[in-house]
Amino acid sequence: MKETINVTVWNEFRHERLEEACREIYPDGIHGLIKSFLDKEPRLNVRLAALDDPDNGLPDEVLNGTNVLLWWGHMAHHEVPDALVERIRDRVYKGKMGLIVLHSGHHSKVFREVVGTNGNLSWGRDQQEIVWNLLPAHPIAAGIPDHFELFEELYCEPFYIPQPDELVFGSWFEDGFIFRSGLCYYRGAGKVFYFQPGHEFCRSFYNEYVQRIITNAVYWAVPNDFGYQIPDGAPCIDYKLSGK
Ligand code: ZN
Repeated sequence: MKETINVTVWNEFRHERLEEACREIYPDGIHGLIKSFLDKEPRLNVRLAALDDPDNGLPDEVLNGTNVLLWWGHMAHHEVPDALVERIRDRVYKGKMGLIVLHSGHHSKVFREVVGTNGNLSWGRDQQEIVWNLLPAHPIAAGIPDHFELFEELYCEPFYIPQPDELVFGSWFEDGFIFRSGLCYYRGAGKVFYFQPGHEFCRSFYNEYVQRIITNAVYWAVPNDFGYQIPDGAPCIDYKLSGK
């Protein structure tokens, strides 16, 4: 029996409260819908957190018990305190927590700070998208066909990110644009996955393949069982490994 994985789904949770069209699609919030499919996994212990919760939903006792953090934000990135971003970054870098950033989270302080980017991209009208599976042997691509279709907000290149360590998905949009839509980064001793679908007025989080990808990403992002202590800082070596 493998250990339980503690997952926290963090959502800004403003569009659903302010905009009827979004609330109709996600009456329990985007985070609530994500929790509903992750809850089908017996190993996952999933909790919800939102920007307007006390301590922005991530007090120490929650963050320090989280193995994988999912992040959806859009209109209030600037309201996320820098100190919280720093705590998240440090936990990822120390290999204590994996991070999954969704859709408009490309401009979140968390994504920018952890990955090291301004997160800039171009965007446009909602339209047909074909998500292509570019790396079928990757654990996040397990069970995903060579391509599948969504109706999504246009996100397109150039996406001003560091070259991803692994490019798992790429997308074509009906107006002719392309986008690197599923990316893995290794930062410090931790793992980060960015996935583009998930506009607040589209239904992508109901799509079976989107659900499978996010579920796969949770298992992938779980910190390793490290064979040594990950140092907190840059220790001075005062011993020799050879040449006694
Ligand atoms: Zn959007």
